[in-house]
Amino acid sequence: MEYIYVCKNINSSLASERGLPESRVRALDTLTGRLLEVINRPFSYFGDHKSVVSYIESCENVLQDLWGFDVDRSKHSYWNKVQGCVCPRMDNQDNWGVDHRIHDMTCPFHGQIIEEVQHE
Ligand SMILES: [Zn+2]
Repeated sequence: MEYIYVCKNINSSLASERGLPESRVRALDTLTGRLLEVINRPFSYFGDHKSVVSYIESCENVLQDLWGFDVDRSKHSYWNKVQGCVCPRMDNQDNWGVDHRIHDMTCPFHGQIIEEVQHE
């Protein structure tokens, strides 16, 4: 599938492979761009840490849906890339797809969040 719109923030080949219509590709690219702006300069957009965390989680859910993936919090990948987050990246990358996040208790964004671990 060929797109007229030129993507700045997403992989248009992947979008094409998934057969996504151009309108959705535009939405994905725009929302991803916005998410990256917030991640890089969170307090240009929000006044407190909690609002930033909430925005990023919501964005990731919408992006998964627009891509046509299941909305799955365990497969979010932007939450600990926000400027100022000190949560471990590699360990959380290893946990991708597992509903358990590792927070650094000193993180201004995620340090106060009590993680709920689901047992089966
Ligand atoms: Zn953090």
